[in-house]
Amino acid sequence: MTQPITLALSKGRIFDETLPLLAAAGITVTEDPEKSRKLILSTDQPDVRVVLVRATDVPTYVQYGGADLGVAGKDSLIEHGGQGLFRPLDLKIAKCRVSVAVRAGFDYAGAVTQGSRLKVATKYTSIARDFFASKGVHVDMIKLYGSMELAPLTGLADAIVDLVSTGNTLKANKLIEVEQIMDISSHLVVNQAALKLKQGPLKRIIDAFASAIPKV
Ligand code: AMP
Repeated sequence: MTQPITLALSKGRIFDETLPLLAAAGITVTEDPEKSRKLILSTDQPDVRVVLVRATDVPTYVQYGGADLGVAGKDSLIEHGGQGLFRPLDLKIAKCRVSVAVRAGFDYAGAVTQGSRLKVATKYTSIARDFFASKGVHVDMIKLYGSMELAPLTGLADAIVDLVSTGNTLKANKLIEVEQIMDISSHLVVNQAALKLKQGPLKRIIDAFASAIPKV
């Protein structure tokens, strides 16, 4: 019997954009996560299953062996810290960027002059802290878990640090993207113990994913 493999994915863009990579490995997910509430999805390979977790939880599941491998955004990996994870591939999927945005009319340039203080709301506190520290800007960090766009509009914060893809969400909320912090894409992460214990099947999946990474 081959060893069972568990792959952690998050619903949405990461799930959708991982399907072609799985196809290259000869794996088809046989259930649609949008049509059911199941958190464990079967595939056409009896020894491969997919578990659906929050994007920010993918690194944790893989770190502690709840999944053998997973697909996680660089944003989630930085916030997690990456301990215990082998990170063999940038899959170049689910691309976006982390940016700073403010309310229209807010004097951002003035607010980030050396030695100033800025109230920043974000889910990405590590990324935001490092970025503003490198600019010499003191931040009062407000941790949020969603709807970050509301923070500057309600006076909760001066600025937000959030993922931006098309920019439509910022525009719809009359926010201005004032700085791009970093480009984001999703990476394949593998549990280090599983890499030794299930070397054959994991290497086949890693090699197949590598061969199917989108060209730019
Ligand atoms: P957009 O309106 O296309 O700029 O998308 C911005 C919204 O989608 C924000 O709420 C982001 O948090 C979210 N978002 C954009 N790209 C991604 C991604 N690759 N992964 C997860 N969330 C994303």
